[in-house]
Amino acid sequence: MEKLQFVITITQDANGLFEMRVAEKSPNSKLREMVFQSYSQWFSFMKRNSLHQFLLTKTDKNAKIIDHILRLAKEHQMEDQIFLIENNNHPYPLLEVPPFDTFINGFRTFLTGLYPHTYHYTKVKHLFVHKSNLSPELKMSLLNNSNINSSYISQEEEEDDNWFGIAQIRIENQQQMEYFSAKLQLNQHIHNQPFVFMKLHRYVTAGKEDLLLDKPIFLTIDDQADLDVFSQLVMDTFSKGQMKIKNIIPSFKDECMWADKSMCSLRTGTRLAISEQKRILDSPICYSFNHTELHHQSLSRLIESEFTKSFIQSGCKNCPALLNCPTCIRLQPESLEKEQYCNIRREQSFVTDYVKIRNILKTFVHNKENKNDVEASLYFSTTKVKKFYQRERVLTKEINYNDCLIFSFHDEDYIYINKELKFYKINRPLAIVIEGILLNDSVENIYHFMLEKYHWKREMFDKLLVIGDQLFKKIGIANRMEVYD
Ligand code: SF4
Ligand code: SF4
Repeated sequence: MEKLQFVITITQDANGLFEMRVAEKSPNSKLREMVFQSYSQWFSFMKRNSLHQFLLTKTDKNAKIIDHILRLAKEHQMEDQIFLIENNNHPYPLLEVPPFDTFINGFRTFLTGLYPHTYHYTKVKHLFVHKSNLSPELKMSLLNNSNINSSYISQEEEEDDNWFGIAQIRIENQQQMEYFSAKLQLNQHIHNQPFVFMKLHRYVTAGKEDLLLDKPIFLTIDDQADLDVFSQLVMDTFSKGQMKIKNIIPSFKDECMWADKSMCSLRTGTRLAISEQKRILDSPICYSFNHTELHHQSLSRLIESEFTKSFIQSGCKNCPALLNCPTCIRLQPESLEKEQYCNIRREQSFVTDYVKIRNILKTFVHNKENKNDVEASLYFSTTKVKKFYQRERVLTKEINYNDCLIFSFHDEDYIYINKELKFYKINRPLAIVIEGILLNDSVENIYHFMLEKYHWKREMFDKLLVIGDQLFKKIGIANRMEVYD
C-alpha cells in the first residue's frame, strides 16, 4: 500500500481565529483538502489513515496548537506518524495587532450563551475552571474534546494555565460591585478589558445610560424586579415596534435562555464549567461538573445524562411553549424564578423574536457613527403594529423574521437578510413591497395600496419591481412575485 503524506497547515484568518487544513501531498492524486475545527476530528482522521504520515509546520503563531497536537499524539500513541518542521520565518504574514477583539468577543459570547451555530458542533469552546487541580488524564480528555480556538476562563491566578486553550481569560475585580475586568492572555500579550455588570432593573431605573459610552455592559435578569422590567421591555417592543439604542447596546448574561431553542448549547457542551462553585459572576452556570464526576464518565455521556435528567425534572414535557423554549436548566424546578420565567415564555411568545431583533440591531448600531445618541429609536413591524405595509387588512397579521428584518433608523430604511448576514439600505417603497410580500399579500393588492396611498403609477411600480429583483432573490421571495394585470 502506498504511504501517503498529508500536509497540515494551521493558519490565522483576518479575525485572528485559527484554521487547521489537511491536504494530501501526492503528485498523482487529486488534492483533497479538509478543514478541522476540533482536535478529536483531526485525531479520528489520523486513526483512519494510520499508515500514513503527517507533516506539520510550527511557527511562532501556531506553536500552542502544535504543542497541543503533539501532546495528544503522544497520548494516542501516534507521535511516530507526525513530522515536525520548525519554521519561525513566518510563512504566513504575522498579524500586526494581536486579535484580542476576536477573543474578547468570544468571551462575551460565553457570557451571553449566544454562540453561532457552527460552534455548537465543534466541541468545547470555552472552559470555565474554578480550581485547576485537574488530573493529567482529565486535562487530556478535555483537550481532545476542544475546538482549536478554545479559551480557558478562570477566576484566580492559575499555576498552569496553558494546557487547554490558545487564549487564557481571567475574571478579576468581582468584589467591586458592578465592575469586573477580563484579562486576556494570548501568546505573550496581555490585554485588559473592563466590563460593567449590573442588574437589568437597576440599569433601567437608575438612568445608567451614560455608562454605555464607556465600557461594555452586561445585564443580569435574576430576580423578580429584573423579570418585571424585562417582561415590560418585551411587551413594549411588541406593541410599539420600537427599540431605543440604550436598550439595544447592553448584552444580557445568559441571553440564550430567552432565545430560540436552537440557541441553547447545553447539549453540545460548548461552554462548560468544571467547578464546585455553582455560580459565575453572581449567577448560576448552566453546566458545572466537579472533578470526580468527570473521572468516572466520558464527557459526552455526562452531558447527555445531565441533559436527560434535568429535562425529566423540569416538568417541561407537556408545556405548550416547548417547541421554542430551550427548557433552560439554570432554573431550579418548581422554584419561584422558574415559575416567573415560564410565565413570560408562555404568555409572551414574542420574547424569542425580541432577542433575535435586538441582536440584529445591536450589530447595526455598533457600526453606526451616531450610536452615542442613546435615546434614538429604531422601528420595525411586529404582529401588533406595522411600520411599512400599513394596509388595513394586514395590520394585525402575523409577521416572522425568518428571512429578514426591515427597519428604519433616522428616517432611513434598511433590510437585514438572514441568509446573507448582511444589511442593505433600501427606499421606503421597496420596504413596503417586501413587507407586503412577507405578509403574503398579492402584488396586485400591494400595487393598489401604493396607488391609493402614494398615487404611484403602474410604470413606476413595475420599475420598482425590476430594481428590487436582485434583493427579492437574496431574501428568497422572488418566486412570490406573481404576474399581475
Ligand atoms: S441551559 Fe440555559 S443558560 Fe445554559 S445554554 Fe441552555 S439556555 Fe443557555
Ligand atoms: S416555558 Fe417553562 S415549562 Fe415550558 S418549556 Fe419552557 S421552561 Fe419548560
